[in-house]
Amino acid sequence: MNVLVCGGAGYIGSHTVYELIERGYNVVVVDNLANGHKEAVHKNAKLYLGDLRDSEFTDRVFNENDIDAVMDFAAFSIVEGSMADPLKYYDNNIYSMLKLLESMNKAGVKKIVFSSTAAVYGEPKKGIISETDKTEPTNPYGETKLAIEKMLKWADNAYGIKYVALRYFNAAGAHISGKIGEAHSPETHLIPIVLQTAMGKREKMFIFGDDYPTEDGTCIRDYIHVTDLADAHIKALKKLIETEQSGIYNLGNGKGFSVKQIIETAKKVTGKDFKVEIQPRRAGDPSALIASSKKAEKELVWKPKFDSLEKIIETAWLWHKNNPNGYNNI
Ligand code: UDP
Repeated sequence: MNVLVCGGAGYIGSHTVYELIERGYNVVVVDNLANGHKEAVHKNAKLYLGDLRDSEFTDRVFNENDIDAVMDFAAFSIVEGSMADPLKYYDNNIYSMLKLLESMNKAGVKKIVFSSTAAVYGEPKKGIISETDKTEPTNPYGETKLAIEKMLKWADNAYGIKYVALRYFNAAGAHISGKIGEAHSPETHLIPIVLQTAMGKREKMFIFGDDYPTEDGTCIRDYIHVTDLADAHIKALKKLIETEQSGIYNLGNGKGFSVKQIIETAKKVTGKDFKVEIQPRRAGDPSALIASSKKAEKELVWKPKFDSLEKIIETAWLWHKNNPNGYNNI
């Protein structure tokens, strides 16, 4: 089976490409390297450098490869960045999906697994979030992902393109080999920043807000290992093929950890102490996001293997320790 992975040089995309290849799929990767890294692409994948908004380019990829299904990870995903420049997010995220769906339709490719996000829920009314809960994003990033979910629904209705949208909570960790991992520039995500501080690359780190309505006042998130996300994509694709039914699923561990708990656990895992300062809240951040992944567990027969925070941070630490400058080392 030939799978086109859009954004396959990015963090979650590259880990999914590794899993697909390990399980015998043929993989074609498309990436414009806006955030991705060539070095993160598995050597057995066929890589095309280009932009999904360029239909001529995308049509050529479909014409040159007999694609059976698409996985789309290509997007901007930083909450604060989307608050500062929302139109950039609307253009890159929504417009590129619109063009991708046009190209899929022309090529007769009718299956797609899409990276959605917990940010579609906004500030949740209750502790654990289910797929049927209200979607009211508090930032443009979440709005673009929600708009795409709706675009997919109507594309299914009109053209029969079947989709699975996976609403991830906080992707974390790295491939157990330590070969690929999280590398953004500039880095904004909590766990990489904590580990860069532990290894002395940063003099100190900041907690953005300790006045949230949570037990210790810092934001709570549900951290899910990137290889567990990759596994869910492959299971979602199998289900699409077997049932020809579209669906939306949360993916998380079902446990929430505060920013302070992440810092404490990272200190334990790394054996390092470091300086932490409190700063004001970051724009657009909801106070707590925790998943119910019961639907995915039942319908996709998926269960996270990295089920403790320690295990997740250990894999991230191996990657950061071996690659202190991310892919610039390689
Ligand atoms: N955060 C923090 N300091 C940092 C980076 C992040 O306190 O240097 C907090 C951030 O405010 C949020 C949580 O950590 O509450 C997770 O942020 P991240 O950017 O990793 O993921 P997000 O939930 O925004 O997708």
